[in-house]
Order: sequence, then C-alpha cells, then structure tokens
Amino acid sequence: MSSKIGVLALQGSFLEHITAIKKLGAQPIPIKLPGQLNGISGLIIPGGESTTIGKLIKDYGFITPLKNKIKMGLPVYGTCAGLIVLAKNIDNHILPTLGVMGISVRRNAFGRQLDSFEEDIYIEKFGDAPFRAIFIRAPIIQSVEPNVEVLARLKDGRIVAAEEKNILVTAFHPELTDDLRVHRYFLDKVKIWVQIQKINVSCIL
Ligand code: GLN
Repeated sequence: MSSKIGVLALQGSFLEHITAIKKLGAQPIPIKLPGQLNGISGLIIPGGESTTIGKLIKDYGFITPLKNKIKMGLPVYGTCAGLIVLAKNIDNHILPTLGVMGISVRRNAFGRQLDSFEEDIYIEKFGDAPFRAIFIRAPIIQSVEPNVEVLARLKDGRIVAAEEKNILVTAFHPELTDDLRVHRYFLDKVKIWVQIQKINVSCIL
C-alpha cells in the first residue's frame, strides 16, 4: 500500500506538492484540520506566506499536536514559507511557528526587486545533475546548529537546503518544476520511518 503523505492545505502552493506526490505513486492527503494528522506517514508544509500559515496553524490548533508528532519522528518537508515555520529562529519577524529545526533564517532575504529568480544548484546527494531551483521571495538559512546537515548552497555560499533528522527544508520550490528528486528523497525518508514503526509495533506485540 502506498504511503499517505499529508500536505498542509491552509494556504500556499499545496496543490503543486499534491501533484508531485501523486506522480511518485504515494497518496497525498490535503490536511486542513489537526485530526487529519493521524494516519499520515509524512507531512509537507508548502510555500506561501509564513505569517498567514503561522497564524492559521495557531488558530486551528495545529502547533502542539504537530510539534509532538515531529519530535516523535514524523518526517516533515518544508518549502520556503514552510521552512520558515519549521525554523527555531527567524531574525526579522515574530510569528507563531513550530520552531523545531535548529536553523536561523531571514525572511525575504533577497529584497523586493529580486523577488524571484532561478539558479542551478548542486545537491551532492542527488548526483551530478544540477537542480534548477526557483526562489520566490525566498528566505535564506543564515546559520545552522551542529546536528543540521547542509544539503545545498547558492554559488555565493548561502545555505538554501538542509536536513535535521526527520526534518527536510528547501528555500526553493521543487514542486514548481518537473524535477522530482527532492520529493523522492523525502519519500525515501518516509519509507524508513514506516519501516521503523512496523518494527516498533512488532516488538510491542
Ligand atoms: N516571503 C514568504 C514568507 O516570508 C515566503 C515565500 C514563499 O513561500 N514562496 O512567508
């Protein structure tokens, strides 16, 4: 049976993630209420507007149940605004967030004129082929705690993708391209998590 992947569907580019997940043969579940978090094996927090997503996760009561699930090991992938919502520190804004990943980020780090741009980046884990990364009013990861692995940087060295255990983030939007390597990588993390849970259940029984 294919894995159920929740896609937080409160605001932002959740439809594009749903399409990417379908293309890879997993089952996307649009998540609009906290009760739907039960039964998913992974969660994507899309890009959009982090102030809006932050307000909505607070108002809808997502923060505590979601933080608990992420701390228990639920794989989660945040793009752009999703990255901001997962970060422990946001240096230029105060908003309700999950604050679970050891990164410091700066919102809208590329200024207003350069709201959007594309750049070929190299992600070692995905081989030699460059990844066409689309940045839309993107944040930058300014610093990472020691247990965070940096996955990709811009040519100028700034960090745009990282991973800390079950948490994966990109400042860019792979869901707006046909390149499914980031989503496939996330689904591989989900598969491992599903296996671990099966082992845990069989130990209890
Ligand atoms: N600038 C947005 C924010 O700070 C993020 C943009 C995006 O997700 N594409 O929330």
